[in-house]
Amino acid sequence: MSARSDDASPATASALLRVSPLPALEARILLGHALGWRRTELITRGDEPLAEAALAHYRALEARRVAGEPIAQIVGTREFYGLEFDVTPHVLIPRPETELLVEQALAAIESIARPRVLDLGTGSGAIAIAIAASRPDAHVCALDRSPEALATAERNAARLLDAQRPGGPLQVMQSDWYAALERTARFDLIVSNPPYIACDDPHLTLGDLRFEPRGALTDEADGLSAIRAIVAAAPAFLVPGGSLWIEHGYDQAAAVRVLLTERGLTDVHSLTDLAGIERATGG
Ligand code: GLN
Repeated sequence: MSARSDDASPATASALLRVSPLPALEARILLGHALGWRRTELITRGDEPLAEAALAHYRALEARRVAGEPIAQIVGTREFYGLEFDVTPHVLIPRPETELLVEQALAAIESIARPRVLDLGTGSGAIAIAIAASRPDAHVCALDRSPEALATAERNAARLLDAQRPGGPLQVMQSDWYAALERTARFDLIVSNPPYIACDDPHLTLGDLRFEPRGALTDEADGLSAIRAIVAAAPAFLVPGGSLWIEHGYDQAAAVRVLLTERGLTDVHSLTDLAGIERATGG
C-alpha cells in the first residue's frame, strides 16, 4: 500500500488541531522529519508515493505531538536567530521573543572590539551562540548548572560556530550562576534568560512547559529570585560601564528595573516585544 504525501495533510491537521495553533505547519514539519525531506521537497516531491514505513513513522510522530510533546523536542531542533539549534528535553526550547535579548546584547557591544560576554543559564546555548555567530571577535562564556544542558550547548557550538573565529570557541562551564567563575573575571556584557516563572503559576502545567526542564522555567519561588541573584553579583563581574540584560516575565519589568538601578546600573530600560509585552530589561 502506498499513500501520497499530500494525503497526509488533511487527516493530520484534524488530529493536530487539538494541540496546535498551527496544525498544517506542524503536519508539514513532522512529515518532513519522517521522510527526511526539506520544506521545499515536500512541495516539489508532493506527487511521490509515500512508503508505508514512512507513513507509519509520520503517524508515530503525530501521536507524540497529539499527546502534548513539543514539536521542537520531537524533531530535535528549533530555529533561533537564523540558526538551527539541537533541542533536548534537558534544555528550554529557544523562543522567538528571546531574539530581542540577542539584538539588544549585540547593540550593547557594538562599539567594543573583542568584547567579553557572559551568558548565565545558557541551556541550549541559543543566546551565547547567536551572539558569538554575529560577533566572531567576541569571547563568549556560557554557564549552566546542568551538565546535560552544557553537552547540548557544546554540540550546538561545535556545529554552528566557525572553528577559526577570532574570539575562540564558546567557553562552556558548569556553574550555579557565577559560582565557578574566577573572582577576577570581568565582562563587557552579561546576558541571561533565567527561570522567572513563579512556582505557583498555572502556566507550568500547560502546553510545551510541561515537557521542558522545570529548573529552566521556575525558581521554585516568586519568579524573581534567580534574577535577584544574577543582578546582585553582576557589578562584581562587569567592567566599569559594562551592560547587563535579562529576560523576564510579562509583569516583572518594573521590579527588574528597580533591582538594576539599586545595583548602580545606569540607563536602565525595558524592551517591548511584538506582542507589546516588556520582555527584557537592562542597563
Ligand atoms: N519564556 C518562557 C515562557 O514563558 C519562560 C522561560 C523562562 O522562564 N526563562 O514560556
